[in-house]
Amino acid sequence: MELVRLGKTELMVSRLGFGALPIQSVDRNSAAKVVRYAYDRGFNFFDTARGYTTSESDLGRALEGLGGRVIVATKSYYKDMEQLDKSFNTSFDNLKRNYIDLFQFHIVNYENELGEILKKGGPLEYLEEQKKRGRLRHIGITSHRPQLMLKALPTGKFETVQIPLNYIENEPLEKLIPLARSLDIGIIAMKPVAGGVFTDNRSAVRWILQYPDVVPIPGMCRIEEIDDNLQALDGTITGPELGQLEADRQELGSAFCRRCDYCMPCPNEIEASYIVRSGMIFKRVGWDKMEMNHIDSFTKGLYCSQCGECAARCPYDLPLTELVIDESKTMLRKGVEQGLITEEELQQKLRAAGLEDN
Ligand code: SF4
Ligand code: SF4
Repeated sequence: MELVRLGKTELMVSRLGFGALPIQSVDRNSAAKVVRYAYDRGFNFFDTARGYTTSESDLGRALEGLGGRVIVATKSYYKDMEQLDKSFNTSFDNLKRNYIDLFQFHIVNYENELGEILKKGGPLEYLEEQKKRGRLRHIGITSHRPQLMLKALPTGKFETVQIPLNYIENEPLEKLIPLARSLDIGIIAMKPVAGGVFTDNRSAVRWILQYPDVVPIPGMCRIEEIDDNLQALDGTITGPELGQLEADRQELGSAFCRRCDYCMPCPNEIEASYIVRSGMIFKRVGWDKMEMNHIDSFTKGLYCSQCGECAARCPYDLPLTELVIDESKTMLRKGVEQGLITEEELQQKLRAAGLEDN
């Protein structure tokens, strides 16, 4: 696969990077198989995070022994020095390498968080010390707020920036990407397929590939996803593909779930993220694919205590506190239409949860 220079890091990374978040949802052997399949097909850039449960350690195991033939990025939320130290050392052990290629401050969305990172004797200095010790090569930052990154990049402290970029979330094209370019900062695009909401993921990836210095890292945990993304490398985006992306954008608007799962877990074990995107999923795959186990998840959703914990963690500010119950009701109503439960059973479920139909 073609290699791309990742800004001033001088790292030569594969045109498509491998977003390793989804491998946390498969077992270790499947994760290893998928990662090695990607490596064998030219992927050399892998991005994980301390916060992606088993992803980091499974990635480390899968890539063990490949040394400089692969470039591995990870990240941590922690700004507290003690926790950052623990987090960095865990990543270092998990990745089983002599050094971490790129360590990023994960989801820096607020000005106070940026201030915390940059303060004297703070997290940035900690990472710079790791660089001096040879345990780390480069420092980056990730965020869902392009406006904040306009303040972060001119500090000169970050060698890469990772932001959501796709046909719908294209705000970074206006100011942030030109700024990053002018400062020679490597640009990594997370969520290139916006959590899989587009009719054709390949077109979504192809759209980003028209920006030669932007490295998209589609999340993958299945062989077919790798093959699909590789096909995006063949050819440039066409007029009809652009037309479909635009139709998807108009249908979705801006308030939709990107499947990042930062909102999880719920203290009441409600599958909040799944519930709020299930309408979109079944619309794509067909309502007849709904099964009784889905009905069980939606029934559980009726018992959301509206504590707001999930909503506070959603970087897209989706109003989960209200959405979970509303979507659970809507989906159960669809369950009635599909003949999975009767109208009477729906009413019983609502009464048992102390809710009204509307
Ligand atoms: S608002 Fe509901 S779904 Fe979200 S964390 Fe609280 S109980 Fe769980
Ligand atoms: S609800 Fe928000 S945090 Fe949860 S998966 Fe969707 S976009 Fe991510």
